[in-house]
Amino acid sequence: MKKWIKSIIEVNNEENMEENKECTRCGINHPIETYHYANKSNGIRKSVCKDCSYQYAKEHIAQDPIAHYYYMKRYVRENPDKYPGNHIAKSIPRKVGVYKITCVLTDDSYIGCSSNIRDRIYKHKKAYGRAKQKNLYKLIKEYSWEAFDVEVLELCDKKILFERETHYIQEHKPNLNNNKTK
Ligand SMILES: [Zn+2]
Repeated sequence: MKKWIKSIIEVNNEENMEENKECTRCGINHPIETYHYANKSNGIRKSVCKDCSYQYAKEHIAQDPIAHYYYMKRYVRENPDKYPGNHIAKSIPRKVGVYKITCVLTDDSYIGCSSNIRDRIYKHKKAYGRAKQKNLYKLIKEYSWEAFDVEVLELCDKKILFERETHYIQEHKPNLNNNKTK
């Protein structure tokens, strides 16, 4: 058997053997995929499960929210690949359409429309605008723009823009569009 084929089989076997792993925090034997990677390139996972990591982070933030804020700012700057907000704007067209903004940490979302989606997203990123978006801006200020993901729902003709926006708001029921759904 060729050497490289053998090594692929060996790697697969190793993965199959290690299907569960005990979390060092809660002690529960979780499936391997419930652990974050410590190092994705060599496939090494953390010793604490995702739920425990999340819980730990929440407790940590509660202890010193200001220190956490500055830590996150630095972390986001140094790890742009992990935070979609840092590099979304270039993929968004300068066209007429409806878009959806979702906070990846809280799952809160907002649907809006604009005759130039990309310019509008830049405005959201800087967190200024009319009172109708105040829920969104409060959240952007709290979590920073890096925690938000933008999705273009539809590009359409300017004449039917508001009609299409209403359609998507009714369909997705985004919780940050309060004064539009009430
Ligand atoms: Zn755990």
